[in-house]
Amino acid sequence: MNYDIARKRMVETQVVGRGVSDRRVIDAMLKVPRHLFVEEAMASQSYNDTPLPIGEKQTISQPYMVALMTELLELKGKERVLEIGTGSGYQAAILAVLADRVYTIERIRPLAMRARKVLDSLGLLNVNIKVDDGTCGWPEEAPFDAIIVTAGAPEIPEDLVRQLAPGGCLVLPVGSQVSQTLVRVRKGTDGAVSVEQSIGCRFVKLIGKHGWEAE
Ligand code: SAM
Repeated sequence: MNYDIARKRMVETQVVGRGVSDRRVIDAMLKVPRHLFVEEAMASQSYNDTPLPIGEKQTISQPYMVALMTELLELKGKERVLEIGTGSGYQAAILAVLADRVYTIERIRPLAMRARKVLDSLGLLNVNIKVDDGTCGWPEEAPFDAIIVTAGAPEIPEDLVRQLAPGGCLVLPVGSQVSQTLVRVRKGTDGAVSVEQSIGCRFVKLIGKHGWEAE
């Protein structure tokens, strides 16, 4: 299988074809080899229009969802970005191409370790990973210019809003355990917070102090 062709087709049909227009996001999606972030047996499906299992009952998000959430962050290149839910490390890789530094938190250690290896193999050395409950953020490294949560939250975690820099935005799915709405929270330069809704979506659960309880 020619992964370069598959990736180009994915970007044309699933990303640009659905209205993502930020040139930097499009270029990052063209550049990052998504097939390296899934198990070898899944590699041939990695450019399909779906989320895929990555083990530990978790998923790598659908490519369009990665592109849309990234576009909503409006990254210009100099930001410090926090991601909650490292998973495969693919979203972190896209962010690493588009921002100055990425901090990403995963609660399942084997996923964090695998992601670290793939990111290192691609030379994406501007990504810090820690194993922890990301619903409390990363206070020692705050504030962040942008925060993205890649698991479904019951509500907007207050600690994350607190750790957002003035002028920054937080993108996350909020709703029930079976369906959510993508939400963007903006913090104005005066500290005022506003909330906008985007499309409906379905993510695995955000589990933690300010998320859902583990089963
Ligand atoms: N961004 C990932 C990628 O690019 O592959 C996909 C993330 S997957 C949809 C959601 C991830 O969030 C899972 O790996 C899950 O273990 C993680 N997660 C859930 N609750 C978490 C929490 N409180 N802190 C950190 N990670 C969490």
